[in-house]
Amino acid sequence: MILLSIGSNQGDRLALFAQAAALLAEKGVKILEASAVYETEPFGFHEQPPFLNAVLVVETTAVPEQLLAVCLAVETALGRKRSVRWGPRTLDLDILYISGIQCHSEQLTLPHPGLFQRAFVLVPLWELLKERLPEDLAAVPERLADLQADVQGVRWYAPFPLPQARRK
Ligand code: AMP
Repeated sequence: MILLSIGSNQGDRLALFAQAAALLAEKGVKILEASAVYETEPFGFHEQPPFLNAVLVVETTAVPEQLLAVCLAVETALGRKRSVRWGPRTLDLDILYISGIQCHSEQLTLPHPGLFQRAFVLVPLWELLKERLPEDLAAVPERLADLQADVQGVRWYAPFPLPQARRK
């Protein structure tokens, strides 16, 4: 199983998600399932608009480094400029998790170090996978309980804008 996290807090956020999904498909990353889209208070740097966040289950023949390159290319194509850490971004696309792969290189850490820290990742992930959580993600419900206060700030916003994905 491969999980991606998608986020945006600039421009037409839902339209950017739809464009990102189309670009992923063009680059050989098939979206099998999408969580709903949640609206979330900004993390880290608070003086910025709220984010939309979702989690995607994808399928690809790309190796992890190639998939990371695809994510970065999609971010760039949709106008992301890296300035303030945790600051506003048109699109953020991260690899959260790939079954059976743990790595920690300069370019890529898997599972993503934020996976267990961020309610905006845990809430959509739990929505999608609560009945078939991979064993190495077994701590998710416990982390959700720990982050109860942050979980309150993650609100259902819309279905994921993708006709061919199984919507939640
Ligand atoms: P961010 O500002 O969160 O989008 O960080 C992107 C950078 O984090 C990329 O240039 C990657 O090299 C690095 N990175 C490390 N692990 C991951 C991961 N699991 N998914 C996406 N980016 C990662």
